[in-house]
Amino acid sequence: AGSASTSSIRQVKLDRESELRIEVGSDSPLRLRLLSGNAEIFGTELPPEIWLTLPPRLKIAVFTWYGATLEMDGATETDYTADETPMIGYVNVHAILEGRRSRARASSSDDPGSTQGPRVIVVGPTDSGKSTLSRMLLSWAAKQGWKPTFVDLDIGQGSITIPGCIAATPIELPIDPVEGIPLEMPLVYFYGHTTPSNNVDLYKVLVRELAQVLERQLTGNAESRAAGMVVNTMGWIEGVGYELLLHAIDTLNANVVLVLGQEKLWSMLKDVLKNKPNVDVVKLQKSGGVVSRNAKFRQKARSYRIREYFYGPANDLSPHSNIANFSDLFIYRIGGGPQAPRSALPIGAEPTADPTRLVPVNINRDLLHLVLAVSFAKEPEEIISSNVAGFVYITDIDIQRKKITYLAPSAGELPGKYLIVGTLTWIET
Ligand code: ADP
Repeated sequence: AGSASTSSIRQVKLDRESELRIEVGSDSPLRLRLLSGNAEIFGTELPPEIWLTLPPRLKIAVFTWYGATLEMDGATETDYTADETPMIGYVNVHAILEGRRSRARASSSDDPGSTQGPRVIVVGPTDSGKSTLSRMLLSWAAKQGWKPTFVDLDIGQGSITIPGCIAATPIELPIDPVEGIPLEMPLVYFYGHTTPSNNVDLYKVLVRELAQVLERQLTGNAESRAAGMVVNTMGWIEGVGYELLLHAIDTLNANVVLVLGQEKLWSMLKDVLKNKPNVDVVKLQKSGGVVSRNAKFRQKARSYRIREYFYGPANDLSPHSNIANFSDLFIYRIGGGPQAPRSALPIGAEPTADPTRLVPVNINRDLLHLVLAVSFAKEPEEIISSNVAGFVYITDIDIQRKKITYLAPSAGELPGKYLIVGTLTWIET
């Protein structure tokens, strides 16, 4: 491994069914192009001859089905070719899903089940390649003209929007390996924390809200319904994490469960789902190319993701710093705090924290460096069941003048007056 410090142009010849695995260095981007043959990055084909600029730290594989010659310009952290990949297994799954989509589209039955395309959920430990497999299945489907719905339940990373959220969006084109998923109108719910243990009940409530909205949208849209969904999940698979996986499978009515890289999880899921004959639980091999990321790297990746929201993937957006009066903003926290004062409870009962209670938040310096969501809710009672329009980042609190300064994607009035705060922080770098 490692061709660090070379920065000249070099060629790589790939044999059929092999891939070039690249970790771009942390300081400078890498240029890459396809000279001949065909190749794809996580399901999206490379255009011939055109140079792509891969940003620092990106970890990808360029895979070829029939052979290709690539050219690279710049230094990498690592690059090597591998001819053992699980891609055949993955594309076989894709072929089966395609068959189900076509059957769903062709069905003229009144049974809503028969017009529903595959609802795939990808599960497995962290760093098993879940996001990558989700991406491939979506891009391959989009390449064949389908518009599958991507649902991301991973609050730790967030490939649709920022971390701390669950979100869904239709995928209409193969996903750009550099730009990621276009953010036209994603359906986003703000959980506000990067681990589900902060408020497990809230997480479940939001998954249910998202599922209900999707269900309504898909009922009215035969094309999207037949295309189905691909659901990416968190890498937390033990204890409560496992319970949340079962909850997601059930709530989103998944009928294909793809288990990556863990025999035990596969066998547990197969066992609990055996009385649901319409749910297939399939074990898939983890790719040897998946790069493990430690807690620090994950934290950094979250931070870049938030930066990207405000500044764009290529620093191409200019967010706006806005100043508001304390009295203009209504900030709420969800959960925490006792439900009722002890005096109001029957003798002997302990006050419990209501996980979905809405708590108004006084503006003070504790809000500094937090990322808040702007809710679409029209009334405070609607906040939990409402999706969010976007995010702001608190950069200054002036207690004396009662002014709050925040960064928003644009100038002008916010798309809603209710803001939700959790524990999601960001230090702008
Ligand atoms: P998970 O979603 O299970 O946590 P990811 O799909 O995000 O895992 O993969 C972890 C990292 O490994 C990502 O940065 C991804 O781009 C990278 N990766 C996945 N597959 C490959 C591969 N075949 N070659 C090189 N890098 C890969």
